[in-house]
Amino acid sequence: MSDTRSAELAASLAEVRERIAHACAAAGRDPAEVTLVVVTKTFPADDVARLAALGVVDVGENRHQEAAAKAEALAHLGLRWHFIGRLQRNKARAVAAYADVVHSVDRVELLGPLSSGAMDAGRVVDVLVQVDLDQTGASAGRGGAAPTAVPAIADEAARASGLRLAGVMAVAPLGADPGEAFARLRTIGDAVRAAHPQARWISAGMSGDLDQAVAAGATHLRVGSAILGQRPPLQ
Ligand SMILES: *Cc1c(COP(=O)(O)O)cnc(C)c1O
Repeated sequence: MSDTRSAELAASLAEVRERIAHACAAAGRDPAEVTLVVVTKTFPADDVARLAALGVVDVGENRHQEAAAKAEALAHLGLRWHFIGRLQRNKARAVAAYADVVHSVDRVELLGPLSSGAMDAGRVVDVLVQVDLDQTGASAGRGGAAPTAVPAIADEAARASGLRLAGVMAVAPLGADPGEAFARLRTIGDAVRAAHPQARWISAGMSGDLDQAVAAGATHLRVGSAILGQRPPLQ
């Protein structure tokens, strides 16, 4: 697909890649260590196809129905689908049928259905433990496990068939310094990795704070509006 919208997406994608390159240079990191996940939630499948034509491989979605429909419509593109939204237990099995990575595992009870969904589909799903870095503040309730609960969830995830424990994920608390929050996430991620050496991913950083996330060691950035534009407000 090549049209005005493609040109717009190409320009904003190039800007974000440039920001990532600068942040990596400032942090003395190799940009090859950082995966850009383009968050396409609320935007049409055509936009995802345009991004794929521009070389995007990793795309993120936060609602099961929307994600499943896009993954099915675009199955021929060989994209890697990242599920980044709050996950209900009764949807987890279905999500594991198309998601390559689930970033939002925040309780043990999700692991059974994710595992059976992956096994049924004959695939291995990468899972990240989502950490709540702000349990009492303004963004409480956006999902995530209490930091003290993370090791037990990680242990269970590492044991589950069809799942591969890949690391940790968080959203920076609203109105707080994201650099400080991401440093805490990194410490929690280091502890998970000490017990499970393969769990090296740190998913952190969105349009507004990807630079701080790169500085704090993020391996996966989840960037939506800086590439696709403003989403309609949630009602
Ligand atoms: C929507 C969303 C993003 C992307 O946010 P932007 O500010 O648009 O870059 C990242 N992570 C999660 C969990 C999201 O829900």
